[in-house]
Amino acid sequence: MPCVCSQCGRVLKEFNRLFLCNGCLSQLKMSNNGFMIREEFSSGSLPIYNPLNTGFDICFYPCIYEGLVRDMIHGLKYKDKRNTAYTMAAMIWEIIDKSNVRFDLIVPVPIHNKRLKMRGYNQSALIAQELSNLMKVPHSNAIKRIRDTPSQVLFNGDMRWYNVRDAFECITNLEGKSVLLVDDVITTGATMCFCALQLKDAGAKIVGAAAFAGSV
Ligand SMILES: [Zn+2]
Repeated sequence: MPCVCSQCGRVLKEFNRLFLCNGCLSQLKMSNNGFMIREEFSSGSLPIYNPLNTGFDICFYPCIYEGLVRDMIHGLKYKDKRNTAYTMAAMIWEIIDKSNVRFDLIVPVPIHNKRLKMRGYNQSALIAQELSNLMKVPHSNAIKRIRDTPSQVLFNGDMRWYNVRDAFECITNLEGKSVLLVDDVITTGATMCFCALQLKDAGAKIVGAAAFAGSV
């Protein structure tokens, strides 16, 4: 089977690890640093910064949520373009690899069962599975969504925090583990923060938040 661009379908002349043609790749707006971390890890080698100062310790997102990046997320979520998950995971892995932070477990941000039945899949779980293969780190649905919430796109700013509060529960003991939480996009960071707090409550030592795109 020829290698084709996951976005425009163009046949690629040679194997391309992102499954993206140069034309599509050039349309993706990349984030500046690729990752943000909050405080120094014990190695002291990384500047750590989390603007929200809560929940997760480090945040990775390769792209800015606009243009083709937004279309890719939309395609994965609503148009069944599931092969996009591989491209997203490969780009996320690239920046995690550069950061030298290592994880023991990968956990996707869950969607509610009702939505899972309608869509047939959880887009974040697809990215998490691909990341798990690339990073050779196990993945687990350790967080359950215990309350269905209206889509975050219906809310602005603070309301997004109220919308997803108390919506998640970690069902696994994560004592001492370094956990990578995965979602498709980080906007306010509210979902990631509440999920990360659940992972910390379950004993996680470090929580990284990774998404294909961010706008914070
Ligand atoms: Zn293309």
